[in-house]
Amino acid sequence: MGIRFAALLTCMALVGALPRLAHAEWYQRTDAIMGTRIYVELWDTDAAHAQASIDAVMAEMRRIDNLMSHYKPESELSQINQHGADYPVQVDKELFDLIKLSTHYSEITEGAFDITYASVGYMYNFPEHIRPTAAQIKAALPAVNWRNMKFDEAHHTVFFEHKGMHIDLGGIGKGYAVDRGIEILQKRGIQHAVVTAGGDTRIIGDHMGRDWLVAIRHPDDPNKVVTRIPLRDAAMSTSGDYERYFDENGVRYHHIIDPRTGDSARKVRSATIIGPTATQTDGMSKTAFVLGPEKALEIINRMPEYDAVFVDPTGKVFYSNGLRPAASRPADTAAAPK
Ligand code: ADP
Ligand code: MG
Repeated sequence: MGIRFAALLTCMALVGALPRLAHAEWYQRTDAIMGTRIYVELWDTDAAHAQASIDAVMAEMRRIDNLMSHYKPESELSQINQHGADYPVQVDKELFDLIKLSTHYSEITEGAFDITYASVGYMYNFPEHIRPTAAQIKAALPAVNWRNMKFDEAHHTVFFEHKGMHIDLGGIGKGYAVDRGIEILQKRGIQHAVVTAGGDTRIIGDHMGRDWLVAIRHPDDPNKVVTRIPLRDAAMSTSGDYERYFDENGVRYHHIIDPRTGDSARKVRSATIIGPTATQTDGMSKTAFVLGPEKALEIINRMPEYDAVFVDPTGKVFYSNGLRPAASRPADTAAAPK
């Protein structure tokens, strides 16, 4: 990209026909928010406007983190977890809407995506290699069921119909935050940008007249690329069993939990979803871990706005119908415009 960028700038300098554009530059920044890496890159003609735009995206990420973090006892999400089984807890409309929206993904993924997974999930601590015993899982598992969340639209309340229920938005909050960040950039007139939060990315516009090329890494080697996906005006989320995990007796315990068993979901090693918005792709990227690549592909292939790439435990790569022709090209020609 650097070389192509340099070549294009030289070209424009020679022609001298686009003096305004010649001053435009890429601006980028990385920050640590929401327990993850936030990356913003954008193309702008004005340095001060570019920096203020990045500031605005980072501030939005912090705002959303304060609203949705389950680590912060004072957050509204924590209030639901503390009192949701005792009485309907009233929350901010934004949080209410996202919790409610999460049930849409539960529905279309046949329950693979379920924010009540946290009723068991909170007993895992991956950095400290802690996992619940079989007996603990058995006792907590009945509380995992998104259908036991009851919503009151008029009052924005959430009520848990089961004791011991917990929710966690880690599986959709970053995608949502990326979309809010992109919205801010669009309102500020930015036409070429990428915003990433952890595994969730959304892109506006192209990159110097070509698609952006987003790499999907090998599950066991961060320097190896499984494939590169050309994208513009699209979102992409990758979930992997290599993000938060520990290995014990040859078994990997990682952060994507099967709501039916309370154990880590191991039917794929990595799952990438491509779609219009990062909220959508985040909401769908856990499915294949729980349902398996074949079933997840069936779901994705029924929905024309989505595409997917899955890597199963044997290293086999699965592509959705929409990606098959492009993905079968050798990696070095994949950079050509679509
Ligand atoms: P990232 O946080 O890097 O974007 P993912 O999009 O893969 O990672 O989301 C993983 C997170 O999703 C977990 O850390 C957890 O908070 C949450 N999660 C785990 N299992 C489920 C599930 N079955 N349904 C919904 N959310 C889940
Ligand atoms: Mg995600």
